[in-house]
Amino acid sequence: MVLHIPTLLLVCVFVFCLMGLLSIHAWLRETRERSLAYLGSMMLLAAAGLTLASLRGLGIDVVPMVLGNVLLLLSAGMNWTAMRVFTGRTPHVPGLFAGAGLWLVLCLVPAFYGTMSVRVTIYSLLVMAYGLLTAWEFHRSRRQLEVAYLPALYLTLLHTVFYGVRALTDEGLSLDNALSSTGQGVPFFSFILFESMLYVIGIAYVTLAMVKERAEQRFKAAAFSDALTGVGNRRAFMAQGERALLDSQRRGGTAALLLCDLDHFKRLNDTFGHQTGDQVLIAFGRVSLANLRPQDVFARIGGEEFACLLPDTDEAGALLVAERLRLRFAQLRMLEPGLLSVSIGVVTTQESGHDLSRLLSEADQALYSAKGQGRNRVQTLPREHSPSGMC
Ligand code: GH3
Ligand code: MG
Ligand code: MG
Repeated sequence: MVLHIPTLLLVCVFVFCLMGLLSIHAWLRETRERSLAYLGSMMLLAAAGLTLASLRGLGIDVVPMVLGNVLLLLSAGMNWTAMRVFTGRTPHVPGLFAGAGLWLVLCLVPAFYGTMSVRVTIYSLLVMAYGLLTAWEFHRSRRQLEVAYLPALYLTLLHTVFYGVRALTDEGLSLDNALSSTGQGVPFFSFILFESMLYVIGIAYVTLAMVKERAEQRFKAAAFSDALTGVGNRRAFMAQGERALLDSQRRGGTAALLLCDLDHFKRLNDTFGHQTGDQVLIAFGRVSLANLRPQDVFARIGGEEFACLLPDTDEAGALLVAERLRLRFAQLRMLEPGLLSVSIGVVTTQESGHDLSRLLSEADQALYSAKGQGRNRVQTLPREHSPSGMC
């Protein structure tokens, strides 16, 4: 099969333009994802570079050999920048221009400018270097990246290996062979154009998939967190709490539930203003998180109401934790001493079972009892045969 090089070049330029414009469009729809803007620029630069690099034999060699390759190397730098930005880093401007700059300098050397095989080797090595840098960005961010980045990494590595092979084997394609689409260099050059198209389509697709996955994770996190305090909300508590209780039941363990309600919060708001009230809510969230274990489920489940589910904790342990929260909150130096206090109702699965709704309802009764007894206290569910467990 004879592949017509000028046709392939034209298709390549159109594919790069289309993918570039679509990436820019995706970025305009989701401007927070700047990596899409860099990716789109990478493709448009590649389209422009390839167009200029094709203008051979017109007596303006400086355009294809210098400008064309400068744009193509800028495009490779932009590809690295896109993935660097995706992994949360800022663009590295000197690195972005280094490949193109080096090419410009080398073009001043006659031995380089006049030898196609040397130009092909150096160009391929520079593209390879950007490929390795891109792969490195993924590798060093692998722990923070919560999206499926491996397809992008493998695609980048394949592209890099390809240019490594090209650096070692390709001698370049003469203009006559390119125009007649026969002779030495034609099969490899056709393959380069195919590889470039597949890479551009592939990397655009996997990047969009990663961006989409990350957006979904953000929405999910927002749906499960309380906007004011940043801790989990009621929905998160119910979901994580159910899971923790099921797990505890399976293991035959005991879990405890603390239901915390800030005392006289309405009065606090009325006296010091809503903003101060908000700061107090944030402070309670912070104090609680600082005094709970990572496996404890903590959330703001209502206006000034918070809940903690403590796996592997019996009543005595739960009372200790609740008392610690009560004390640490009261000791905050935000307002005059005595103004900050919390009442906490405590229940455990030993008496109330592993049903979260029932635990919440019985913890609410214990809390009601704490309020009735003067607030600023920890209270277990009053039981017939056992005295109330006030600390
Ligand atoms: P008690 O000791 O019996 O719990 O009395 P309380 O005043 O804390 O309880 P009440 O239910 O009467 O009032 C709760 C108050 O919490 C009323 C509401 O304005 C306030 N509140 C709820 N959500 C927020 C919030 O996000 N920010 C602020 N600043 N206040 C809030
Ligand atoms: Mg309340
Ligand atoms: Mg209250």
